[in-house]
Amino acid sequence: MSDLNLKHINKTYPNGFVAVKDFNLDIKDGEFVIFVGPSGCGKSTTLRMIAGLEDISGGDLMIDGKRVNDEEPKDRDIAMVFQSYALYPHMTVRQNMEFPLKIAKLPQSEIDQRVDEAAKTLGLESLLDRKPKALSGGQRQRVAMGRAIVRHPKVLLMDEPLSNLDAKLRGQMRVEISRLHEKLNSTIIYVTHDQTEAMTLGDRIVVMSDGEVQQIDTPQNLYDSPANKFVAGFIGAPQMNFMDATITEKNGEMFVKVSDHLVKLPKEKADILRKKGFGDGRDVTIGIRPEDLWDSPEMLEKFKDSTVHGTVEVYEMLGSTSNLYVDIDGHQVTATVEPDTKKRVGDTVTLAFDNNKIHVFDNDTNENLL
Ligand code: ATP
Repeated sequence: MSDLNLKHINKTYPNGFVAVKDFNLDIKDGEFVIFVGPSGCGKSTTLRMIAGLEDISGGDLMIDGKRVNDEEPKDRDIAMVFQSYALYPHMTVRQNMEFPLKIAKLPQSEIDQRVDEAAKTLGLESLLDRKPKALSGGQRQRVAMGRAIVRHPKVLLMDEPLSNLDAKLRGQMRVEISRLHEKLNSTIIYVTHDQTEAMTLGDRIVVMSDGEVQQIDTPQNLYDSPANKFVAGFIGAPQMNFMDATITEKNGEMFVKVSDHLVKLPKEKADILRKKGFGDGRDVTIGIRPEDLWDSPEMLEKFKDSTVHGTVEVYEMLGSTSNLYVDIDGHQVTATVEPDTKKRVGDTVTLAFDNNKIHVFDNDTNENLL
């Protein structure tokens, strides 16, 4: 357990490719931090730099106030769980878990105690004499975690640990990892490109794109107040609807105009935009989440002053919700509505929304203006 600081961390690979640019992050003891972003955005590179498996090209990596850039991986007191599990096939589960402790030359009694404790924590007691090939994917993953936690590392790193499991098992293991964190209260950094894992596991999430940090925040804040269009589109499923719009001012009130629709902005939002120099005639992009569009009679009544009309192009029934893919004057909009919606393909639909839920993005910088 430990504090970890990344200060202006950069990574340029020998071929000149800049994979990580000016990464800054302070992680508190016991925090569960997620690195999330699309393939190739630099998540694994950053994790591997922390582990010591990749040289750091610039900046400082600090553990408990000590700079560790040049320390060997084994001296950093960090354990890593890999996507591939990386278990030794010829060793039993017990031997796999003992391995790092034998290397560290701990006395056998201590080794036995730690392995038994980790096996208990992870529910592996009955599997200790098996070889990896006689285990399921989820069990192998637990052994890989066991091998990491027996070391009582200061920091536990996990690189897409669940990506080789099927969806159901991934869900179960997600809950187990949450429990493990509760139990160990260790500092964990977890890499994933799966936003459900990110949102459910992380105390804080680092959203990355093209080697750059886009936003570092709690899951709730990322969802409610994305810093820019990238984060807004990345967090949330189905993804946020984006539409080209023009700010229009009339009689002291501010609207966003989408095709022929005028959507009035609440005064507080209008004031923020004016303060930032955004006024009549300025082109922007507006965003609204699918779950903030409704077609039920109650919501249509509640928000009768802010509605749009379109034609259902695709209908998806998901059990607890339904998705309507709607064409509104040539804009493709997704609405996640109640499962009992009567709307089907070809129907015209009226969607209501709360104009407090509208996001407005700067077309030049992609910054969220509100
Ligand atoms: P994924 O989710 O696909 O694992 P990632 O976000 O973890 O992606 P990284 O593996 O960190 O991405 O890679 C970041 C970028 O660095 C990618 O564009 C990748 O092609 C590049 N890269 C990785 N390793 C090297 C290397 N040894 N030499 C040059 N470029 C590399």
